[in-house]
Amino acid sequence: MEGYEALFSATAVERLWKEDAIFIGRTNCDEFAMGASNENSAFGPVKNAADPTRVPGGSSGGSAVAVQVGMAHASLGTDTGGSIRQPAAFTGLFGSKPTYGLISRWGLLAYASSFDQVGPLTQSLEDNMLLTEIMAGPDGKDASMSQAPAPTYRSAQAPSKARFAVMRQALEHEGMDAEVVAHTKALMAQLEAAGHEVSIFDFPLLDAMVPTYYVLTTAEASSNLSRYSGMMYGYRSPNATDLESTYTLTRTEGFGAEVKRRIMLGTFVLSSDQYDAYYNKAQQVRAVIRQQTDEILASADAILIPTTSTPAFELGEKSKDPVAMYLADLFTVQANLAGNPAISIPLFKNEQGLPIGMQLLGKREEEQSLFDLSKLLVDLVF
Ligand code: GLN
Repeated sequence: MEGYEALFSATAVERLWKEDAIFIGRTNCDEFAMGASNENSAFGPVKNAADPTRVPGGSSGGSAVAVQVGMAHASLGTDTGGSIRQPAAFTGLFGSKPTYGLISRWGLLAYASSFDQVGPLTQSLEDNMLLTEIMAGPDGKDASMSQAPAPTYRSAQAPSKARFAVMRQALEHEGMDAEVVAHTKALMAQLEAAGHEVSIFDFPLLDAMVPTYYVLTTAEASSNLSRYSGMMYGYRSPNATDLESTYTLTRTEGFGAEVKRRIMLGTFVLSSDQYDAYYNKAQQVRAVIRQQTDEILASADAILIPTTSTPAFELGEKSKDPVAMYLADLFTVQANLAGNPAISIPLFKNEQGLPIGMQLLGKREEEQSLFDLSKLLVDLVF
């Protein structure tokens, strides 16, 4: 898409424009928002300002660092499986994804349409609420939206008593950083000491979430990315000689390795021989994850889990191992699979000074409660 200039904007952007937001630039990100480290970018990786040998997270790494270093007050990202919350956690910001259907997807480059949502990365909770409010609300150009009237958020007020549910498997999972676990447990104790209810729940499907996410998102991506054929816009191979070689060479030369990997995986899971074993099965698992998430939230105000299993990892540490990289999404994909809102809150730092984010996952269309509970955590820790 080098040199391509869009002919129209996005609803989310236009709504901010109308409120006199000043747009100062475009930010780097993983190609087609596919990644968790910003290393899949044709422009090269973004570096984490807390430690330039480490990744800023992804795919919205550029958006995160622009706010981390104070170049901008706020930035936007899209969150398909964590691309707002995970970079926010790695750079010490508030990053939220709304309920699926709260903010219009019109004008976005689609990755996986039943997962993608726009959301803000900000230094403060108040800014996060403000941007969400401005961008939210029905838009005739996105048929998957909630038709509920545009919400207005009152300033966040910490409830005096709240119920948090913590996933047992999250604290015991292989690869969990000891400091992340210690901070989570200390926070749980602090909440209880302050009179809040902290319950532990079992979620045996935790290890099914990342595979389910990747089957469904790659399937959707293989369909969404078929429009990059060299015919209508973007790169067209100069080496092509006929229709078929135009498609093949354009896509072979134009897409990066990770994007090709996902198109192939998505095409495979949708092929007639494999459809039932993978795509249909993953749809069924998605429905169960949504149902179990609802059951947990029937007796709790929010699910509390770390945003990521470790603080920001080293540049190059996972880029040769796609499966290790996919596991960076372990705790963030649940919100997108179930369609619920979630926020990463910059509560802690490890001994080296790297940010650690804690995540709250709330009920669908109850963003106000999620913001109120975020305030509760911020007041408790600071
Ligand atoms: N890291 C996840 C992925 O690579 C999430 C990306 C996103 O939310 N856009 O798919």
